[in-house]
Amino acid sequence: MAKDAKSGSAASAYTYVDHKFDVVIVGAGGAGLRATLGMAEQGLRTACITKVFPTRSHTVAAQGGIAASLQNMGPDSWQWHLYDTVKGSDWLGDVDAMEYMVREAPAAVYELEHYGVPFSRTEEGKIYQRPFGGHMMNFGDGPPVQRTCAAADRTGHAILHTLYGQSLKNNAQFFIEYFALDLIMDDDGTCTGVVAWNLDDGTIHRFSAKMVVLATGGYGRAYLSATSAHTCTGDGGGMAARAGLPLQDMEFVQFHPTGIYGAGCLITEGARGEGGYLVNSEGERFMERYAPSAKDLASRDVVSRCMTMEIREGRGVGKLKDHIFLHLDHLDPAVLHERLPGISESAKIFAGVDVTREPIPVLPTVHYNMGGVPTNYWGEVLNPTAKSPDRVSPGLMAVGEAGCASVHGANRLGSNSLIDLVVFGRAAAIRAGQVVDRTSSVPSANPRSLEKIMDRFDRLRHANGSTPTAVLRDKMQRAMQEDAAVFRTQESLEQGCKRISAIWGELKDIKVFDRSMIWNSDLVETLELENLMANAIATVYGAEARKESRGAHAREDFSARDDANWRKHTLAKVSEDGKVTLTYRGVHTETQLPVDKGGIDPAKIAPKARVY
Ligand SMILES: Cc1cc2nc3c(=O)[nH]c(=O)nc-3n(C[C@H](O)[C@H](O)[C@H](O)COP(=O)(O)OP(=O)(O)OC[C@H]3O[C@@H](n4cnc5c(N)ncnc54)[C@H](O)[C@@H]3O)c2cc1C
Repeated sequence: MAKDAKSGSAASAYTYVDHKFDVVIVGAGGAGLRATLGMAEQGLRTACITKVFPTRSHTVAAQGGIAASLQNMGPDSWQWHLYDTVKGSDWLGDVDAMEYMVREAPAAVYELEHYGVPFSRTEEGKIYQRPFGGHMMNFGDGPPVQRTCAAADRTGHAILHTLYGQSLKNNAQFFIEYFALDLIMDDDGTCTGVVAWNLDDGTIHRFSAKMVVLATGGYGRAYLSATSAHTCTGDGGGMAARAGLPLQDMEFVQFHPTGIYGAGCLITEGARGEGGYLVNSEGERFMERYAPSAKDLASRDVVSRCMTMEIREGRGVGKLKDHIFLHLDHLDPAVLHERLPGISESAKIFAGVDVTREPIPVLPTVHYNMGGVPTNYWGEVLNPTAKSPDRVSPGLMAVGEAGCASVHGANRLGSNSLIDLVVFGRAAAIRAGQVVDRTSSVPSANPRSLEKIMDRFDRLRHANGSTPTAVLRDKMQRAMQEDAAVFRTQESLEQGCKRISAIWGELKDIKVFDRSMIWNSDLVETLELENLMANAIATVYGAEARKESRGAHAREDFSARDDANWRKHTLAKVSEDGKVTLTYRGVHTETQLPVDKGGIDPAKIAPKARVY
């Protein structure tokens, strides 16, 4: 590490520490830690940068579990899992990536078990698996399959702690409470590192690397009510957009049916997996009417829309008739205690409800971002051109919720994210092991890129307009919540585009009160707001352009899915002045394993109507 304190303009005001690594991973959630562990295990010199302590990443909040066709509770197969994932994605996911995920899933879960994840067990000592929404037997014919492996309702917690311990054991170097500002880009578009700010002592760190991995999670906080942590601000998407790279399928935002009314905290789908059900003000189990076969375990987008329709038609519960009840009070208290202890506690704290006696008031709440930085199924970031839709952007990978492989397409199935994190975190490590040349020297940083990064940082640090960050953030969150929600129309989306573009203009007038370099949360939130805005603007413009309904993108004015015109991925480039340019790339429909070698018959996963 060499210290120096010179450089151009604004940059000269800062103290720098330089680092060289083979690989740098930004993010220490499930995806970042699995990638870090895999890289370090192979002896690559590996750094992991994270703005929060690793085990405080949002993955820690994942309750329900991780999907893999282990067959511990009955018959299952990766082919059924693939069918459910394709159908869940509403035929927008890339089949090669989805097939890779479901085939690797069982091995990835056993690997977690061997690393030390304390999964819940069956009587015979096997990994316990519960039913989850959209996971069915017999290519969707049902009944629900028990595929979701769980450590009670604290699965993410168990996974994070295990992966962090293993990464340390393998000598990965952690830079904790460092905020990554931007990617260092060569003039030819190669990523050669990342600049980060040490929040604790105010130094600026320039990491040069042969490969950078974005594992920064989702951007749920672009909305007013979200189950995600306040740290889920789409920083990876913001960095990619500023590096001139596209964001993919951002219009697909998942609302989880059961956020606690008011607080927004999550009640896992595992609650319905264990037998919980939803009722309206007439005491009716209305999901039986909408989804006769899967009922309360239909896919999330479907359940969220049904709840919204019940409320709109006057059958909501409560004084304002504006939410729905989730019943668990008919379940054996011993089961609640053993399988759902965490949510029993959340219901008590955030809704004042004893789940053994009363229903929980719930409402669809923003939960997951299907879109992200486009990648192939090795995690390599794509920067497509019309001629070359799968062109790799050198030096950069993206995994987890920040990426878009795309395994979730237009809608993610519950418990398919945790498996996505570990399968693709591992895949990125395998790929890096192949493409990173250990003997070559680490590339040196492009001075023009460094200067641009520090100019932006310095400008925000000294921003002296008239709008406090929190005020502008609130405006953005309200616009997204009102205009790009569960149901969308041309009118709401056009209004959303106008509002978000106007807010982009107001970024120039932002006011940062604290100019210090140490634990400056005002500046952190301002950097995060710029990142959120890049994600938000891509979301609402992509949604306005997509004239169909597919998965989580439900338009009242175009209520049908339109495969002829819209079975394609949206790519959104966001310029510095907030202009969004949309292009499209085709969906990968080819399977990998041939039918005569046990592969799935492509006819099985051909597009058809999506009913549960
Ligand atoms: C309440 C809740 C429950 C869920 N339950 C389930 C479930 O049961 N099953 C399932 O499959 N999925 C579940 N999900 C979804 C799943 O948990 C998430 O999609 C997944 O955890 C995201 O993991 P990640 O590794 O991509 O990112 P995260 O876990 O969000 O981690 C992001 C990391 O990036 C770092 N970071 C971000 N920006 C910066 C920056 N600028 N500089 C430095 N570091 C940065 C953070 O410090 C953090 O370490 C749930 C989600 C929520 C919100």
